[in-house]
Amino acid sequence: MTTRRSFLKSAALAYPACGLLSNTAKAQGTYVAPTNFSRDYFKEIGVRPFINAAGGYSAFGGARMRPEVAEAIRYGTYNKAKVDDLHNAVGKRIAEMAGCEAAMVTSGATASMVLATAAAMTMGDQEKIEQLPDTTGLKNEVIIQKNHRYTYDRALIAAGAILVEVASEEELLSAIGTRTAMMFWLLANHNPAGDNIPMTRYLEIATESKIPTFLDGATMTPPASNVIDACNMGFDLVGFSGGKGLRGPYSAGLLLGKGDLISYARANSSPNSRSLGRGMKVAPEEYLGMMVAFETALNIDEAEDFKRKREIFARMMNEITPIPGLKAEVIVDEGMVNELYLDLEWDPLQVKISIDEFIEALRNGSPSIEIRMLKFSGGRVHISSTVLAEGQEIMVGRRIREILSASI
Ligand SMILES: *Cc1c(COP(=O)(O)O)cnc(C)c1O
Repeated sequence: MTTRRSFLKSAALAYPACGLLSNTAKAQGTYVAPTNFSRDYFKEIGVRPFINAAGGYSAFGGARMRPEVAEAIRYGTYNKAKVDDLHNAVGKRIAEMAGCEAAMVTSGATASMVLATAAAMTMGDQEKIEQLPDTTGLKNEVIIQKNHRYTYDRALIAAGAILVEVASEEELLSAIGTRTAMMFWLLANHNPAGDNIPMTRYLEIATESKIPTFLDGATMTPPASNVIDACNMGFDLVGFSGGKGLRGPYSAGLLLGKGDLISYARANSSPNSRSLGRGMKVAPEEYLGMMVAFETALNIDEAEDFKRKREIFARMMNEITPIPGLKAEVIVDEGMVNELYLDLEWDPLQVKISIDEFIEALRNGSPSIEIRMLKFSGGRVHISSTVLAEGQEIMVGRRIREILSASI
């Protein structure tokens, strides 16, 4: 399996700053929640807001778009161009930044998987495109390793394909046949069991057999330079989530890779109304938003970003401590992404509250706060600063102190 280190460190980013990026300080600065709205919609309709100290999870509304992204979206809602013209230009720009032949904006990494499979099964044939999800007479098998089966793999069968599971090189070689449309690879924290077949061998076999390959790298950002690395790993197509670590629009994603395959994926998607992907529509302003999110994320100075996050956690810890028996520690995620978390751990004999009770108390308090308990950190409490607005770290710290000190 590719290690985090080898994957992450190969591409030192040298993409030139352009006009839109002149103010990188703005992107790196702490988010300030705007307050000058004419209406309070949440209040009007009775929706309870919450402070997200858990991270950019889909159920929590995803990541927070950077100001540059919101600006691009605002531009796109007022300035109209033909959707295909806009997508061509945005795709070209994203491909240049990623160092690949072509790119498109999808409605998320899941849609990237559906469209990649549809592209591989139809290879641009309009009749076949219109036939999907009926795959009679089409290549319709997607090869996946046993250890790469995961929550999102149904996206690979959504366009009508079937999965063929392999657990060894021998099984892979005998699985490849006239019906094989694509070979899939998952690169994420989700597969602790590792790979059944080494990646280089898997790719060699795919090349020899002339079978398109797809890599799911959805969770592999930040840093955004991982997208560039992923494009250089030898896969024909790679998919990324836009609304997670890239901090693009919640409902956007990227599909990057070979020019012909990207054009087939485009043919299988909106605005082509005779395509399976018609329902995976992306708003024109989101094309721009996704492009700017990628640009902005590529220009983030990681060291600066970590320093800023450490300062946020320091202010939070300042509110929490001292509580006897509590250990608070800033940790770097040991997975494939570069992210900092604040880990809390307490001696249950001194602080008499379970993690579940603690999470409930934060959730039900005022303001309501969400944090996460992560299995990979041994069930410890896990706090993220990525979606916090300026000053919210103080409120989070205070609530943590109140709850823990009431449990002594
Ligand atoms: C989140 C995730 C997806 C789906 O991403 P969306 O952009 O929300 O569709 C796919 N694969 C992996 C590994 C993910 O973590």
